[in-house]
Amino acid sequence: MLRLPTAFAPGYRLATAREVHCWSFGLVTSARRPGTNSWDQRLGTLEDERIFGPLRDLECACGRYRGAVNRGMICDRCGVKVATREERQRRFGHIDLPVPIPHPLGDETELIDAVPVLPAAFSGSSKGGGLARAYEDLLEAAGRSRGELRGSLRRLVEELLPVVTFAHEWGLGESSVLVRGLVLASQEETAPPDAGG
Ligand SMILES: [Zn+2]
Repeated sequence: MLRLPTAFAPGYRLATAREVHCWSFGLVTSARRPGTNSWDQRLGTLEDERIFGPLRDLECACGRYRGAVNRGMICDRCGVKVATREERQRRFGHIDLPVPIPHPLGDETELIDAVPVLPAAFSGSSKGGGLARAYEDLLEAAGRSRGELRGSLRRLVEELLPVVTFAHEWGLGESSVLVRGLVLASQEETAPPDAGG
């Protein structure tokens, strides 16, 4: 069984779907399409700049708005905010699961129905290939059986757990971001009231 290291496990609880949606800048629905270069073919994927932030400093994805004079503008064509690439270290996406499934780090009664997608700075980094594949496996499994969905979620957690553990043990600033990738919220965060969606 997968477990969160006891050194920091008491500080966390499962995140609710509402929290996952609050953290997220958009829903990831499909795998990347290799060889596509236009912004509109990247919508809803791990390369969607509307969700994860601009690839180029102070420039929207379609190029209509650029430069400091347009900072903060959201392009009316591509939907991307004119901001710096630093946004890519902060902006989460999410994947909605078709059915609630048990969290790989919890017991059978602890169900989750939404999974945060870590900022592009992680999944798009030189070491992030396995993580990006794990998210896309999860997207593909969403159309298959509950068993396959559970297997994919488990592989995602297996991919992330060593990184989260390392970040915590080394006291890295990113640890509070990374831990959300495991669908965990800090005990100190107050869960927003569940208004039924
Ligand atoms: Zn644009």
